[in-house]
Amino acid sequence: MAAHPEEPRPVRPKRCLGCGYILEGLPGNRCPECGRAFDLSDPTTYRIGTACPRWWLAFRLVRVPPPASIWIAASLVVVVLSMLVAYLYLLW
Ligand SMILES: [Zn+2]
Repeated sequence: MAAHPEEPRPVRPKRCLGCGYILEGLPGNRCPECGRAFDLSDPTTYRIGTACPRWWLAFRLVRVPPPASIWIAASLVVVVLSMLVAYLYLLW
């Protein structure tokens, strides 16, 4: 079933929940990008609309392993707390 070239692309196509790949017109029921299963007759297995923001896709691609992300979060907390302490100290 070939798509008609003159047919306009849907403005809000059905997209993969995992990676945002456009699922309409695909032969199977698995996303060719990430392998996630979908069913175009079941709205809970896809989403409609624009792709994920680029920063979110980049974040997903980076896939920081949990220990590293914990260290990043912890160091951010330490930095924020030390800034808060310094600010309170200046106010004192
Ligand atoms: Zn996908």
